[in-house]
Amino acid sequence: MGFCSFHHYWLKAKEAGLDKSFWDFDLNYLACQQGKFNKINTQNPLYDMPYAYHFDSALYGQFLRRFAEQGGVKRTEGIIEHVQQNAKSGFVTGLQLTDGRQIEGDLFIDCTGLRGLLIRQTLGVNYEDWSHWLPADSAQAVPSERFDKTLPYTRSIAHDCGWQWRIPLTHRNGNGMVYSSRFTTDEQSTDTLMSNLDSKALDEPRTIRFHTGRTEQQWCKNVVAIGLASGFLEPLESTSIHLIQSGIIRLMKMFPNQGISAAMIDMYNAESQDEYETIRDFIILHYHVNERDDSEFWRAMREMTIPDRLAQKIAAFKETAAIFNEQNDMFRDASWVQVMMGQGLSPVDYHGAVNAMDKQTLLSAMQQIHQAKQQPVSKLLGHDEFIQRYTSA
Ligand SMILES: Cc1cc2nc3c(=O)[nH]c(=O)nc-3n(C[C@H](O)[C@H](O)[C@H](O)COP(=O)(O)OP(=O)(O)OC[C@H]3O[C@@H](n4cnc5c(N)ncnc54)[C@H](O)[C@@H]3O)c2cc1C
Repeated sequence: MGFCSFHHYWLKAKEAGLDKSFWDFDLNYLACQQGKFNKINTQNPLYDMPYAYHFDSALYGQFLRRFAEQGGVKRTEGIIEHVQQNAKSGFVTGLQLTDGRQIEGDLFIDCTGLRGLLIRQTLGVNYEDWSHWLPADSAQAVPSERFDKTLPYTRSIAHDCGWQWRIPLTHRNGNGMVYSSRFTTDEQSTDTLMSNLDSKALDEPRTIRFHTGRTEQQWCKNVVAIGLASGFLEPLESTSIHLIQSGIIRLMKMFPNQGISAAMIDMYNAESQDEYETIRDFIILHYHVNERDDSEFWRAMREMTIPDRLAQKIAAFKETAAIFNEQNDMFRDASWVQVMMGQGLSPVDYHGAVNAMDKQTLLSAMQQIHQAKQQPVSKLLGHDEFIQRYTSA
């Protein structure tokens, strides 16, 4: 199929009478429907099944700590009371802890979460507010009993006041509501969440507040902000831990050798900005291209003015089914196509290269692809069986 993605062929086949949905050709979807998963080791793109992990975040944090300490990281626990700076350059020189201990350094990574103690509170870097595009500012989280079988996917469903997640772990399900205090109250959110749980709640819901946006310079002087200190994007696509990891990798690639280079700082900041903005746009897409008419919230989302680059992407897809990827976008073509089509955008045209195949050849190719996609599903493991084998290996 060369440079012309599968969805172009599917659009033409649909026009020619194909009776299969787009999702019938998606191995992840077919496996999810049957509660199955396996890591497929293949070079054949037909059988490619990308995946991500469901973690217990507290256990994952402890695992990373052990891993880092075994690798030689020295951990000093304490509360930072005062951040010391060089009077002339403004560079951070040390941290004073509440018990009087002093920590000095050449490079500081600010991972103090939403407060951004070094990057924002000390160096005064501005926080760019994106709440006019992504107005959700609250979440309520509640654990519930696990299902008999662990599902291999996250479920995100919309309600009139926001959306609800369900993330299966082996010992419980994580659930939560994400909503905007501009459009709904905490009580309404709790009612919706608790009445839509699929298993017995194990606790009371816990409310979390946040503010969507980005620290304008994620690297300033000798401070690099990683994690929530660098910005917050709501968890619709569960991207925060990915952003932490990609921030660390970027820093490793540009790690200072003899002093801090202004060119490296600029490069780091430009890449981070691009990465944040493309994820932001991808999340806005979910909200903006909605067809709900049951609440002020969803109407406002549909009617808002969106960032120009996203508006162009949507227009290009509607008119020609084309997808344009940015270099630092973590979401590739398949993700954009799935959300655009999943939310009901139907392109009026497809790529002309598709016409090189006549209708009959195209329809029989589609049948073959469909059969080929069904084949590996029967051989996949049930999700619990996979986890059991994988974790005991
Ligand atoms: C509702 C919700 C759902 C989420 N779901 C997902 C998901 O599905 N996938 C995903 O990838 N991410 C998700 N996230 C985001 C994820 O939780 C965060 O990315 C991650 O916890 C950020 O870690 P952090 O270390 O940057 O910040 P934090 O976890 O906030 O840690 C900051 C730390 O800094 C410490 N600190 C602050 N000030 C000081 C001081 N003066 N001295 C010493 N220490 C200090 C704090 O005590 C804290 O321990 C979600 C977030 C929310 C709110």
